[in-house]
Amino acid sequence: MAAAVRGRAATPWRLHATLPRSEANGPGVRYVIWSQGCSLGCPGCFNPSTHPGEAPLTRTVEGVVADVLDGADGLEGVTLSGGEPLEQPCAVAEFCARIKECSSLGIIVLTGLTRGEIEADRDRAAAVADADLVVAGRYNARRHHGRGTARARRTGPGAPCA
Ligand code: SF4
Repeated sequence: MAAAVRGRAATPWRLHATLPRSEANGPGVRYVIWSQGCSLGCPGCFNPSTHPGEAPLTRTVEGVVADVLDGADGLEGVTLSGGEPLEQPCAVAEFCARIKECSSLGIIVLTGLTRGEIEADRDRAAAVADADLVVAGRYNARRHHGRGTARARRTGPGAPCA
């Protein structure tokens, strides 16, 4: 896997934003990556500006990996959010593999797809293969009472990903 990842490191990745330090997107201090593009249309989504496919920021996977590793001191991990991260599964797979190859950082993926939708698609399943935690399922505004409470499970419904 690692050799293949090295060979495709220039893979483009459409992103909404990145944040080198956050304590509000999972346990500890984390580097956060919001992908651009989501077609799921969850009612009440609170980040609709991430839905269009046209990205305000296009990076290479290797470029983002370098940014994360350059600032890794004091980081507990990386959180991938959206938009829908798994609408770009190759970029996510490459990124996660490179982070695991080069560091001990943990990886959380927040996705609006269900566990079944992920497992039914080879590329999506491969994208989360190196993740330590996958929070899966459509955002449900009625169940969203505060950030963090719905996130401490491997897969579960109603977790916000934006
Ligand atoms: S909550 Fe997440 S999966 Fe749902 S529409 Fe918004 S960005 Fe897409």
